[in-house]
Amino acid sequence: MDHFAISTIHPGNWQRLLRFQTGVSKKMANISLLPAVQAFMARRHGQFIDGNATADSATATIEVVNPSSKEVITAVHQASDADVEQAVKSAHDAFKGTWHATSPARRGELLNRLADLMQENREELAQIESLCSGKLIGLSRAFEIDYSIAFLRYYAGWATKIQGRTMSLSLPSAQGEQYTGFTLRQPLGVVAGIVPWNFSVMIAVWKFGSALACGCTAVIKPSEFTPLTMLRVAELAIEAGIPAGVLNVVNGNGRTVGPALIAHPMVSKVTFTGSVPTGTGVGVAAMQAGLKHVTLELGGKNPAGFLRDFPVDKTVDGIIEAAYLHQGEVCASAERFYIHRSRIDDVMEALPKKLSAMRIGNALDESANFGPLANRTHFEKILSVFSKAKQEGGDFIYGGTAADEAGFFVKPTAVLAHSQADTIMTEETFGPVASFLAYDDHEEMLQYMNDSRFGLTASVWTNDLSHALRLVPQVEAGTVWVNMHNYIDPAMPFGGVKSSGIGREFGEAFIEHFTELKSVIIRY
Ligand code: NDP
Repeated sequence: MDHFAISTIHPGNWQRLLRFQTGVSKKMANISLLPAVQAFMARRHGQFIDGNATADSATATIEVVNPSSKEVITAVHQASDADVEQAVKSAHDAFKGTWHATSPARRGELLNRLADLMQENREELAQIESLCSGKLIGLSRAFEIDYSIAFLRYYAGWATKIQGRTMSLSLPSAQGEQYTGFTLRQPLGVVAGIVPWNFSVMIAVWKFGSALACGCTAVIKPSEFTPLTMLRVAELAIEAGIPAGVLNVVNGNGRTVGPALIAHPMVSKVTFTGSVPTGTGVGVAAMQAGLKHVTLELGGKNPAGFLRDFPVDKTVDGIIEAAYLHQGEVCASAERFYIHRSRIDDVMEALPKKLSAMRIGNALDESANFGPLANRTHFEKILSVFSKAKQEGGDFIYGGTAADEAGFFVKPTAVLAHSQADTIMTEETFGPVASFLAYDDHEEMLQYMNDSRFGLTASVWTNDLSHALRLVPQVEAGTVWVNMHNYIDPAMPFGGVKSSGIGREFGEAFIEHFTELKSVIIRY
């Protein structure tokens, strides 16, 4: 299909695009788009503010590109300064007016109701997400949407369990007076949630689910590459009965909309997920804007260490699990693999067979298990990662090129590095690129694993549980898995050490980051 300019996008053109997709669908067994998705895509998109979808036709648009085909599928009007102002004000009014005073039980009920509606509209949300992010449809359904629902229900359950404590005080009593003390956990107010493109709904849910359960209200800023699905979720929130203004969405370029949100005096907290350089800037901006609370969930260069006893076939399965989910566009994925020298040749021989069996295909093709990269910028970045690794003499065991497909496709890639200092062993790719190094003893393996400025996740793989449990405390990462990778659960706190971030999401830990602790002391 021709690449058409965004100014020509209107329902007629959308129909034309659908015909193209239907054509492909017969050939590639793509699923058909639901009528609800077709209707949603044909709408004018912009922001969701104070309970209403808005799109100021005077503001510039950002093209939304389908990564499976490189085609422009719709456009989104960028939030103007006035939109940001209105969104934050509406969140502030909702916080002061309704949400703050809404009982915890009711907040939990409403979050559960939103989870119900996401369940009912699962396929619609999954299709929208796959269209703009390139996420394979099965992953959009089972990971993006189903996990979002599970997280929402988890936060809903916490709404009624947020509490302070009473304390026995030790102040001396001069004239027989006594003291009692207790703490209150109070919502922070308006939370700005800045979200990357890899999981546009689930990461947003981590932010607004936490915020709303604690009694805060939220303004979410999705990535400019994946601006659509959260707009639909915000509509469902209104349908669920969540009051207008409690959940708002503003779209646009991160470098303008992001700083405007952070600097706004009515925003009390910034929760950011994204890259280390952007996150560092966000942290500085939040401090400069009045010492705002800030949580940073940043990138990683996560290691996986396979101990000598671990069998080759299971090692290969472990590498596939750890490195290639969603084309490696998962912050928790492993990119550095350490294999005992006695096993490395066997693993390097077996891995390409598995990688070549992966079926590369369109995000809407249910039979594919390896989709496109999410956007052109990322596609070009991964191609430059390949060039750099080639320049540095990396030994490509598999992949290392674009795939012969219409969209932003590369092959799943495995590189045997020369040393720990190779760029491929030190810089996050955030793509389907696993790099390998042999080690001689377990001390060296641990040293390699910890030799990074990042510390988001790590995994150790062995049948010797006693050895694993001795290693776990020594691994420098926010999450350490044993014989698994990429498993997240709402009950387990998630976050990074070193340059991978500040703060924890999910688990009980989130409450600390969305409430202020107030001490009350009473003399009687
Ligand atoms: P970026 O850091 O480029 O962007 C993240 C978000 O920040 C986007 O919404 C972006 O908007 C916005 N943004 C950009 N510039 C600014 C700014 N100056 N001020 C405020 N906001 C801004 O990350 P990516 O979207 O490329 O995501 C990939 C990165 O995210 C990887 O490093 C990955 O490891 C990390 N990540 C970490 C996770 C974790 O839990 N630790 C989970 C998922 C991803 P726009 O897109 O419009 O520019």
